[in-house]
Amino acid sequence: MEDRIEIYQKLNSESDIIKSLISAVDQDSYGDFSISSAPGRVNLIGEHTDYNEGFVLPCAINLRTFCVARKRKDKNIRIVSLNLNKVHIQDIDDIKPSYNWWSYVLGCAYVLGIRQGFNIAIYGTVPLGGGLSSSASLEVSAMYAISNLFGLRLDRREIAFLSRRVENEFVGVPCGIMDQLCSSLGVKQNALFIDCRTYEVQNVKFPEDWKIVVCDSGVKHELGSSEYAKRQDDCKKVVEIAKRFDQRIKSLRDISTQTIEKIKYNLDPVLYRRAKFIVEENQRVIEAVEAISKKDKGKVFELFSKSHIGLSKEYEVSCEELDILFDIAKSFEGIVGTRMTGGGFGGNTVNIVESGREMEFIDFISNRYMSVTGRKPISRLVQIDSGVQEHKI
Ligand code: ADP
Ligand code: MG
Repeated sequence: MEDRIEIYQKLNSESDIIKSLISAVDQDSYGDFSISSAPGRVNLIGEHTDYNEGFVLPCAINLRTFCVARKRKDKNIRIVSLNLNKVHIQDIDDIKPSYNWWSYVLGCAYVLGIRQGFNIAIYGTVPLGGGLSSSASLEVSAMYAISNLFGLRLDRREIAFLSRRVENEFVGVPCGIMDQLCSSLGVKQNALFIDCRTYEVQNVKFPEDWKIVVCDSGVKHELGSSEYAKRQDDCKKVVEIAKRFDQRIKSLRDISTQTIEKIKYNLDPVLYRRAKFIVEENQRVIEAVEAISKKDKGKVFELFSKSHIGLSKEYEVSCEELDILFDIAKSFEGIVGTRMTGGGFGGNTVNIVESGREMEFIDFISNRYMSVTGRKPISRLVQIDSGVQEHKI
């Protein structure tokens, strides 16, 4: 059952958000409020490497999804989204996997095995469907609020893994673990170096005098998800062929640049380009960790540029608008690194800019992108924020 509610207003401060969420869960509920928030993320480098058991380097950002939950005496789950101005009510005995806005929350109750009803209200400052992972920030925040409400006190890694199950098994979106790990384990002013095979996470201090600007191209091409599946398939095919040369190869993670050259003539040219990109991108992530730690601007610029060009020409997941944003940003004097970020076929570029020049950069990119494409990009100056947290009133 779904109906519209009229309590949405433009919410700015954290305390405004929490106050509005509390009034939205008040009805028919009792006891303590469980309050949480979890961040969205931007990936600095390491694109399409997660499903190849490789490396990624995302950071949690200060755009967050807040949840307030409170128990009910009956078996209903009542979910309110202040972003959508909608309510969904469902009997806990009728929960089954589905692809809806509320599924990200219901899925949490499902994987946690909750048997009692509750109210939960959500509001996020992460743009919905904008490539900054509002979905993971919602799952992780809701998982935290609901598990705390019922006294489960899970650790942050468990929260991440359960949240991924919600997205994969309940909502039906085949994403990797990067978004949920980042939203759970994020650390202020640090990027997270994640090994997508072992799920080991290392914090990488991000320089105080570099700023991150995320530029939204304003386009989202429909072919995104089907092409994404095709790339996963291409990678699997290369692994099958590489196995004939070395049985120990389980994923592209196990292939070196030398091996890829050795098997080159057994691969069709498209598969060769795909595999070469992934193998080199994994190496770039490792080098980027060092370059960022040493504040080596030249190296970061080189690695980011090669990553973008590889995504565009070899992996073929960029699009005209992302390439235009990349070309414009590259020519800005205070740029440290620029590249497309996320799955591709639209979405965002991530830009590292010298501190003090970020506003100039935003004007620069807006004016030029507008004059070439007729669209205004949405530029977001973001800070690296901490992962999921509890809030007290
Ligand atoms: P992204 O994760 O890049 O933002 P997705 O398509 O993976 O994009 O997830 C966006 C979806 O998540 C939305 O369409 C909506 O169904 C759900 N969602 C995320 N945040 C909220 C919210 N605050 N209120 C309602 N639904 C939300
Ligand atoms: Mg998502």
